[in-house]
Amino acid sequence: MSDEVIILGGGFAGLACGVALADAGRRVTLLEKKPHLGGRAYSFKDQETGDVVDNGQHLFMGCYRRTRAFLRKIGTEDRLSLLEDIRVDFAEEGGRRDALRCPSWLGSPLHLAAGVLGLRGVALADKLNLRKLDAYVRRVRGGGALPPDLDRVTVRQWMDSLGQSRRIQERLFDPIALGALNDKPEVAAATGFVQVLREAFYTDVESTRLGVANVGLSELYAHAAARFIEDRGGKVLLNSKVKAIQEGRVITEDGQTYNGTVVSTLPPWNLKTLELPARLRGHWENLKAAPIVSLQLWLSRPILTEPFVGLLGTEIQWAFNKSRLLSLDGEGQCSLSSSAARTSTWPATRRPCSSWPAATWHAAFRNSKKLQSSAGRSSRSRSRRCRRRRVPTRCGRRSASPPRAWCWRAIGRGRPAGDDRERGVERPEGGRADLGRGEAC
Ligand SMILES: Cc1cc2nc3c(=O)[nH]c(=O)nc-3n(C[C@H](O)[C@H](O)[C@H](O)COP(=O)(O)OP(=O)(O)OC[C@H]3O[C@@H](n4cnc5c(N)ncnc54)[C@H](O)[C@@H]3O)c2cc1C
Repeated sequence: MSDEVIILGGGFAGLACGVALADAGRRVTLLEKKPHLGGRAYSFKDQETGDVVDNGQHLFMGCYRRTRAFLRKIGTEDRLSLLEDIRVDFAEEGGRRDALRCPSWLGSPLHLAAGVLGLRGVALADKLNLRKLDAYVRRVRGGGALPPDLDRVTVRQWMDSLGQSRRIQERLFDPIALGALNDKPEVAAATGFVQVLREAFYTDVESTRLGVANVGLSELYAHAAARFIEDRGGKVLLNSKVKAIQEGRVITEDGQTYNGTVVSTLPPWNLKTLELPARLRGHWENLKAAPIVSLQLWLSRPILTEPFVGLLGTEIQWAFNKSRLLSLDGEGQCSLSSSAARTSTWPATRRPCSSWPAATWHAAFRNSKKLQSSAGRSSRSRSRRCRRRRVPTRCGRRSASPPRAWCWRAIGRGRPAGDDRERGVERPEGGRADLGRGEAC
């Protein structure tokens, strides 16, 4: 095998692979088609506010052992913080709140059992019925392969088969499945979900902890990984779109040829568009993925006290308190996330997002208001005052509160059939659609 390795793609996978191989003494050439590294996990500087913005909120977990080892190797593990409290807050229509609190001193998986027992919105009978699911995950605990039949059923079918009530699914498991698999429980295969349960909740308490980057994603890993590769004699080449893979050789669109062992980290929908040797073609080409939409809001005041909140019964499942996560003073930067976003809230419209119907944005902001109104009396009255007064925003414009919202490209772990630009969710590189402000209130 040649010492030269050509890695296709400069996302998390390509850079992690490049670092491992460079560390093992191989000469790495990494080819990335975009002008920046990071793939679906990158950050950019917003020109208007000057803030570094991630292309979407990324949560890590203690059980991301390989990711953490990768960050350790490139010297940036300290830029990832694991939250001490294992607690997930939920909010729903009418301001009702619930919380999954898993006391770490109980150890794993008792901490999860205690968390579930403490959920207010789930009946005791449903909680006790979790024994069947618990018994299943205990059986497949450890690192071994999961039963192959899990690949033939969806998350919903698997949970139904274990007699789990719809209520506990909707209030506990669906948010986990949507967040971790970025698809609806009726669509996603059960394998990934069972893997998440066993890795996150049935290994050790540390594995359950949620982690967030305290810098932009590119600063978390992309720049440092590229430096690591280059310091060991490798090359990281941007604007190098691969056109063809041949035996031991890669050809880019600008006619360059690179020889060596080829490692592709391209998502299947990118890889299948290349000229490939016939023996590489196969069923993998049918793999599809689901979109995700991220909304970044700059509000004139904080609307959340928790680091993040799960939103039950909405198409926007998570609200992240960026001000708190990034220790920003004063302002209410927050990010909303909608997984499996091929649904009614994010219509498959052919119009660009800036012209989405006002109702769409109402749906998004209604959630923010619900959070405000559920945050207690004082914040409710403050919110009314601000709405009457029209407060200045961070960008120096005058607008009602919540003042302003921007949205940018937010392609999920893949995309459904069709061009995302037609679906109105993809923005140009680092670009965004200014949604204006009227609809917000
Ligand atoms: C908004 C959003 C939120 C997310 N939240 C989370 C989260 O909370 N937790 C989590 O664990 N995961 C999350 N994810 C998923 C996570 O970002 C991805 O799983 C991960 O970044 C995928 O990395 P990758 O390297 O496999 O692929 P990619 O990041 O897609 O990298 C592939 C790279 O290949 C390049 N490329 C494509 N074609 C070519 C070509 N022909 N030639 C050269 N280069 C090419 C692309 O430009 C890209 O840089 C989220 C994703 C999004 C979009």
